[in-house]
Amino acid sequence: MKTIGLLGGMSWESTVGYYRAINMGVKSALGGLHSAKIVMYSVDFDPIEKLQHQNNWSATASILADAASKIEAGGADFLLICTNTMHKVAQQVEEAINIPLLHIADATAEALLNDGVSTVGLLGTGFTMEEDFYKGRLHTKYGVNVVIPNPADRAIVHDVIYRELCQGKITGQSKKEYLRIIESLAKKGAQAVILGCTEIGMLVKQEDTATALYDTTILHASKAVKYALSSRR
Ligand code: GLU
Repeated sequence: MKTIGLLGGMSWESTVGYYRAINMGVKSALGGLHSAKIVMYSVDFDPIEKLQHQNNWSATASILADAASKIEAGGADFLLICTNTMHKVAQQVEEAINIPLLHIADATAEALLNDGVSTVGLLGTGFTMEEDFYKGRLHTKYGVNVVIPNPADRAIVHDVIYRELCQGKITGQSKKEYLRIIESLAKKGAQAVILGCTEIGMLVKQEDTATALYDTTILHASKAVKYALSSRR
């Protein structure tokens, strides 16, 4: 079994989900007392969030690249960045290490293509919904069309992520808003909706809606388990 590197803490609430999903995946594949081999570096999210909103992405890249090097030095065979948003600096992180990075958009796209989904809605931070590092990769590399909420709804989705979900707050009002926005994406032609922020699965579950949901935390974790248990190095 390969050792999984987790660059977490963005937020730590979602890293708990990764840790659990990865260990459950290894347990269900190997049984008994088996569990995942993991090297994790969990950052302090507060300064990173400030740098994001000051548009100082190069400073965030330095923090993440440094953490990734430490994960590699700790013995990880490959790396996951446990957030969609911070894949904005995935290339700088990749350049700092000599182990493979499993990109969260690749894990998502593989699941979509496997299920024949060619037009998908995307919920995430404003950075993820509006910029090209995530949805551009889905479109250019995999031919998946991405639809996003209108500006007012994007602001709601973004604010709930930082003010509530990343701080472990789950409210009925926000859940109602998210379900309304998911519905609006389906009306715009989305065959399914990506929960493109690793905390959204804490708020909205598949049983809450008839629209198919693709939870990036679960998809990313599941790809990591498959890779860790494969013979490929
Ligand atoms: N975990 C979130 C994501 O998947 C947002 C927090 C962050 O900005 O990294 O995008």
